[in-house]
Amino acid sequence: MMHFTEKRDIVTIKDLDFVIYLSAREIENRIREIAVTIAQDYEDKNPLFLVILNGAFVFAADLMRSLDFACDVQFIKASSYKGLSSTGKVTFSSVEELKLAGRHVIVIEDIVDSGLTLHSFMPTLMDYKPLTLEVCTLLDKPEARVFEVGPKYVAFSISDHFVIGYGLDFDGAGRNLPHIYQLIPQNY
Ligand code: IMP
Repeated sequence: MMHFTEKRDIVTIKDLDFVIYLSAREIENRIREIAVTIAQDYEDKNPLFLVILNGAFVFAADLMRSLDFACDVQFIKASSYKGLSSTGKVTFSSVEELKLAGRHVIVIEDIVDSGLTLHSFMPTLMDYKPLTLEVCTLLDKPEARVFEVGPKYVAFSISDHFVIGYGLDFDGAGRNLPHIYQLIPQNY
């Protein structure tokens, strides 16, 4: 169950309090900037965006609508997180349906944390023979990195705290929040 305080700057989910961290306006402005950079690199290349579900769906929808050139999109589902931490194992569904050969592929992620998801996934994607392969992530937590992965496009580099909203969830809740919220540290 999710509830808001009167000011909506604090959200409580399953007894954990989250405080607003990046507003919808800040996110929107930053996406516009990233879209300009991506356009410079890809506008004549008909790139293919590969969206990692579930978390990246909101970011991908906004980013793609900020791009004023031809591009395609495919989706894939990855699961690793349970509650506040990773299970250490990533599973992907629908990999066999990917059509990446000869394409300029940009993976869209919600957040790069330990790097496990990308570390597990990028070699698999290379087997599908894309022309180029890069990663664009909404959030990056460099302090949490365990596996060497370097997303080319990062909207926000953040500290190593659990966040929700704008597509990111805590146990399935909070994905619909328009802002990004950070877990208040005393709850750890
Ligand atoms: P990694 O494999 O450790 O890099 O983690 C990537 C995935 O873990 C992301 O795509 C998210 O689904 C999830 N994740 C990591 N950090 C957070 C967080 O702070 N909030 C919500 N989900 C997270």
